[in-house]
Amino acid sequence: MPVVAVVFDLDYTLAIPERERQVILDEATAAADAPSLSREAYLDSHRRNLTNETRTPIFADLLTDRGSEASPEALASAYRGAIERALVPVPGAEKVVRDLRREYRVGLLTDGPVLAQEGKLDALGWADLFDTVVVTGALAAGKPDQRAFRTVLDELDADPAEAVYVGDNADTDVHGAKGAGLRAVHVLDHEGEPCQRADAALARDRLGKELSGILSEFD
Ligand SMILES: [Mg+2]
Repeated sequence: MPVVAVVFDLDYTLAIPERERQVILDEATAAADAPSLSREAYLDSHRRNLTNETRTPIFADLLTDRGSEASPEALASAYRGAIERALVPVPGAEKVVRDLRREYRVGLLTDGPVLAQEGKLDALGWADLFDTVVVTGALAAGKPDQRAFRTVLDELDADPAEAVYVGDNADTDVHGAKGAGLRAVHVLDHEGEPCQRADAALARDRLGKELSGILSEFD
């Protein structure tokens, strides 16, 4: 079936933080008078709190575990600001999305709290870049749950067999998209190995140059 819709992941696919995530986390905990938190502990709590409006529950769990009196709201806000200041587009990302929109319906499906993910899009100037944006914080479940993929495809009025998902994470993006019946393009960092289930793979810094050609081969 010809491709009519292309759906992107955001973090580490179209945009990356310019600074190490641990440095950003350290800056936020210092600003909010909170104890230091490891990136691993943060990611663990993030996975347990995927469907929320804000990052406050993620930090509330971490601060409670450590017996800290610091405000999870203040920490979530400091972290959001630090992330937004650090985020930069992948080379050519914005142009490739604009170009693809002439040929395909183009959506974004991103995991995380609504406020956090929309704040990133605003900071990048991408609030209107896509035909539709679905943030899983507003849904019952995040990727790789098939309902997340179905929601964005409904908004794009496309069947799974007519759609391609483009993302960096083998488990949530590639396996999630394939499980939901889409084709999947795996976006790789420098050391990344292509996921066996992906229909195609490309290096992140080649995304702007090579994605259109890969998609046209699917037709
Ligand atoms: Mg990602």
